[in-house]
Amino acid sequence: MAAFERTVADFTGAGEAVAVSSGTAALHAAMYAIGIGPGDEVIVPPMTFAASANAVVYQGGAPVFADVEPDTLLIDPGSVEARITPRTKAVVAVDYAGHPCDYDALRALTSRHGLALVSDACHSLGGEYKGGKVGALADLTVFSFHPVKHVTTGEGGMIVTGDPALAGKMRLFRNHGITTDHRERSEQATWHYEMVDLGFNYRLTDFQCALGISQMRKLPRWIARRQEIARNYDAAFAASEAFNSLTRRENVSHAYHLYVIQLEQALLKADRSRIFSDLRARGIGVNVHYIPVHLHPFYRKRFHTGPGDCPAAERAYERILSLPIFPAMSPKDVDDVTSAVMEVIRAHLAGG
Ligand SMILES: *Cc1c(COP(=O)(O)O)cnc(C)c1O
Repeated sequence: MAAFERTVADFTGAGEAVAVSSGTAALHAAMYAIGIGPGDEVIVPPMTFAASANAVVYQGGAPVFADVEPDTLLIDPGSVEARITPRTKAVVAVDYAGHPCDYDALRALTSRHGLALVSDACHSLGGEYKGGKVGALADLTVFSFHPVKHVTTGEGGMIVTGDPALAGKMRLFRNHGITTDHRERSEQATWHYEMVDLGFNYRLTDFQCALGISQMRKLPRWIARRQEIARNYDAAFAASEAFNSLTRRENVSHAYHLYVIQLEQALLKADRSRIFSDLRARGIGVNVHYIPVHLHPFYRKRFHTGPGDCPAAERAYERILSLPIFPAMSPKDVDDVTSAVMEVIRAHLAGG
């Protein structure tokens, strides 16, 4: 486990890494380490997987949803600022689709208000912001090694940080809140251990870590291939007025976990669901990421969220489609996707 942690810590330049059993466990450990508890608020974007917000709830805190920028679907620092209250303790920045958030703006904001900045980088391992690696941009950065992510260990996750004290808390948290593990006890020839806080069994196995180490070697090559596919899509779609690819800011290296287009519904005869089914019928594995978290029944019921809370995310949700993007796609696969997308859109152009 230590070797896999060292590999990811070195790759990201973060200093400390703590391996856990999933990205969700990593988010939970991060919320524990920064001391989230009942009465605390944590600002999260709705355009993410539910786990980004659920981790706050596990610790008894309340997620508060800030809206996203309409062209990148990343958390909007202006909306974050407007949601800060005396109860706010932290901000979770989700690098949606693999595009690092605006960390300069978010850091300025969180340090001005004394908040922790947690990066949910489950999409962006290997990405960069202004030349700095994802992992070294926030107080805590969370990765997932679920099979759909860039690097997989079957299930798995990791938190990286520059703060040894936070790392120590998370090591405790993943091991029942117990101060020593069985190896340290056998080295010290003692039976004694102490459970100093309530933790979980969130450990990652050594089998999984061995897989993770070999996967990390391939990551740079895989990211380069994803970026190449994205450039092909960008070029093929540049002329279409009926949809846009999400904006990529100049100052980032995008990890392209997802390639997302937004339909211009006003120019089309069909809504997103028909275009989705037509593409699926042609064998194109399109998807929709994500149903805004604040619209899920659990959040509506428990936290009284609902439509109108985050208008940009809700508008985007009606219009987005994720196209297939993975390193093993052949040039022909990429051509098949672009031509299917162009043909389906053409068939649905209003007046066409
Ligand atoms: C995958 C993912 C998670 C959860 O990771 P698991 O390893 O599946 O628990 C959390 N946040 C985001 C943005 C993700 O994509």
